[in-house]
Amino acid sequence: MTTNHKCIPNQGFVSLVGAGPGDPDLLTVKGYRVIQQAEVVVYDRLVSEDILALANPNAEMIYVGKKLDFHCVPQDQINQILVEKALEGKRVVRLKGGDSFIFGRGGEELETLAERSIAYEVVPGITAAAGATAYAGIPLTHRDYAQSVQFITGHVQKDGREIEWSSLAQSNNTLVFYMGLKQSSHITRQLTAHGLDADIACAIIENGTRKEQRVFRGKLSELPTMALQAQSPALIVVGNVTQLHEKLHWFKQD
Ligand code: SAH
Repeated sequence: MTTNHKCIPNQGFVSLVGAGPGDPDLLTVKGYRVIQQAEVVVYDRLVSEDILALANPNAEMIYVGKKLDFHCVPQDQINQILVEKALEGKRVVRLKGGDSFIFGRGGEELETLAERSIAYEVVPGITAAAGATAYAGIPLTHRDYAQSVQFITGHVQKDGREIEWSSLAQSNNTLVFYMGLKQSSHITRQLTAHGLDADIACAIIENGTRKEQRVFRGKLSELPTMALQAQSPALIVVGNVTQLHEKLHWFKQD
């Protein structure tokens, strides 16, 4: 086991675990094992019930996600919970959807633990961009269509900074926007204003890898209309690789 070297003996331990995008079978073997061993599980909204059910029935389950019409538990408070539970000597699992280091604030939580010299490990998860596109039959790169892929947050940046649209608007690049549904008009406007063809193919993958998965396909110019029909959690994928969905889709929901 590799941990941060500043670890103090007899303290608790925090495993930052990525639960994957939805299908519980996409949890890693390591994630599975540490969840079963946890005394405390601090989890988010996008973690599936089946994965939570793997925890020991005696484990303390702490929900810190967003509820309908309520705000998330503030990040400082989450950090505080992790610190407190670890200082009680507990084995803590911090369980997040997808991968903790991709738009998951995993880095911020680890910074707090590192500052308090609390031992931790990171168990990577399958990020939504990888999982949802795999289940939709959309390869993120393909020699005929895309030589690069970028993951972008649709959320406005912490300091209000704009995304560098000119670096994104390349036809041989696949773009995956997380949290982008509400920003779909802005995304379309900025990409076309920076030179991307409005006819380029795009897709929205809603509830990727879950039995409720839906895939919407169209042109970039149609993205805002497509977004009106889709619900969260959803990814926007822009790029000609998305055309392959028609040919390569395989996931059959029961
Ligand atoms: N850390 C996570 C992302 C958290 S941000 C990861 O690595 O996947 C939350 C956003 O992720 C959602 O708004 C949505 O854009 C995307 N997302 C998460 N799960 C998803 C799923 N099953 N299908 C489609 N998009 C998903």
